[in-house]
Amino acid sequence: MDEITEMLQDQAQQQIPMRHMELITVARSVDEERLHRQQRLAAAFRLFSKCGFDEGVAGHITARDPGDPTLFWVNPFGMHFSQIRVSDLICTDHTGTVVSGDEPVNRAAYAIHSQVHAARPDVVAAAHAHSLYGKTLSSLAMLVEPLTQDSCAFYGDHVRFDDFSGVVLDTEEGKKIAHALGGKKAAILRNHGLLTVGHTVDEAAWWFITMERSAQSQLIAYAAGTPIPIDEENAALTASQVGSHAAGWFNFQPLYERITREQPDLLD
Ligand SMILES: [Zn+2]
Repeated sequence: MDEITEMLQDQAQQQIPMRHMELITVARSVDEERLHRQQRLAAAFRLFSKCGFDEGVAGHITARDPGDPTLFWVNPFGMHFSQIRVSDLICTDHTGTVVSGDEPVNRAAYAIHSQVHAARPDVVAAAHAHSLYGKTLSSLAMLVEPLTQDSCAFYGDHVRFDDFSGVVLDTEEGKKIAHALGGKKAAILRNHGLLTVGHTVDEAAWWFITMERSAQSQLIAYAAGTPIPIDEENAALTASQVGSHAAGWFNFQPLYERITREQPDLLD
């Protein structure tokens, strides 16, 4: 089933307004789709900065090129998320060579994301940052638990990668992460942070934002007392309601509208 069909089937459940549905169903040329992904990507970086997911030069979000699936667009190494514009994005190939743009790529971005994109042809975008609560949760032997309606988006749909061995600089390590991720939407990289993927940039970015908040909520709950998890049946039901590709995409739309209105230069 293609993405649009899936989205349309999910429309009734998500009650996605028509002004957003038009964005999904419009036919775009390869060039138009590339620009669309770049705009979503630049907006995602601005939002990550707003959410405090920037830690020095760490973190990367990638978007697969619509014309060549072996290429992906990514942030230039060392540029603050809050300053990234569409024209700043660089494109790298499967060997880590920058094929568009003058700035270098973060080697860790290439090592992890190239392998995730290679292992998951369905994945258009992947997001990773050293956000505070995600990296804290990663140091504990925990998954994101179904403690709240929102956290059920990850119920049965994320993994832990427990093989920390320093900064990920080679593709063999990236391959292991991609293998652990399997067909799921997210991974908790032990002693490191969160990684999310999606069929759209919108979805990957939203899963990261809400996974970080779920991690925060879980840590607060355990610090305050003994949380009561949602039972398995209802966690699975809720996951089907809040964890779909369409739900992930839709949740990003108001954030995109907010950030492009506040910071229109991101589209330059
Ligand atoms: Zn990292």
